[in-house]
Amino acid sequence: MEMENKKQTYCTAIVLAAGQGKRMGGNVLKQFLELKGRPVICHCLQAFEDSDKIDEVILVAGEGKNEYCKKEIVEKYGFRKVMAIVEGGKERYHSVWNALQKAGESDHGADEEYIFIHDGARPFLDAEMIDRGYECVRKDKACVFAMPVKDTIKVADGNDYVCDTPNRAYLWQIQTPQIFEKTLIMQAYKSIMEYEDETITDDAMVVEKTTGRKVRLIKGSYENIKITTPEDLPIAEIFAEKRK
Ligand code: C5P
Repeated sequence: MEMENKKQTYCTAIVLAAGQGKRMGGNVLKQFLELKGRPVICHCLQAFEDSDKIDEVILVAGEGKNEYCKKEIVEKYGFRKVMAIVEGGKERYHSVWNALQKAGESDHGADEEYIFIHDGARPFLDAEMIDRGYECVRKDKACVFAMPVKDTIKVADGNDYVCDTPNRAYLWQIQTPQIFEKTLIMQAYKSIMEYEDETITDDAMVVEKTTGRKVRLIKGSYENIKITTPEDLPIAEIFAEKRK
């Protein structure tokens, strides 16, 4: 009987909302700004809540924001899959590590366990993306949503002079969710946390630097923006209106 109830996969979503929003300015953090009548952070939480692929959510809140997130986000909007709210760290990767340690406390006895890591400031995650990410991680073990860049990208020398122009055909703009087999991402982060590396800006980098695993790129959407600077807000309003 027990065997029949055993889940084949167990997926945890880590939602990051511990950034300080320095590039946005203003008094309200970008993840708590209103977008179509709800705080920005609620949009991706709803996508994970509604997905049959996701079993639980760990929300990462900024220092001193735990109670606020519990009352004003999780309880107010009824996100039942949020099993823990953990405090973030100095850089994004410190916040992810705090959440991974929480995820590592429990073994759900599933055949396969996966972790979806998502920026809370990206509200346009949807069921279709979660489903495609789920299929891809089961095959490739490490995958990230991304889109081919539209502009030419140049590498600067630190004094605003160009030192290289990589071939645009090979350049992708990286998004989230970034999705990994649980043991792979736990191991990768464990190794990287042994020293400080300020250059880490996403989770795939941690896997690239510490394991031999190739990370798969999955085409996301040009609408899967990260609300970062004030110009992003009216664009987000247009995308949200279109999806209503
Ligand atoms: O800083 P960046 O724009 O890359 O942040 C991406 C996401 O990571 C945002 O949702 C932000 O709230 C989160 N973050 C975090 N902890 C930090 C820095 C960023 O949870 N220390």
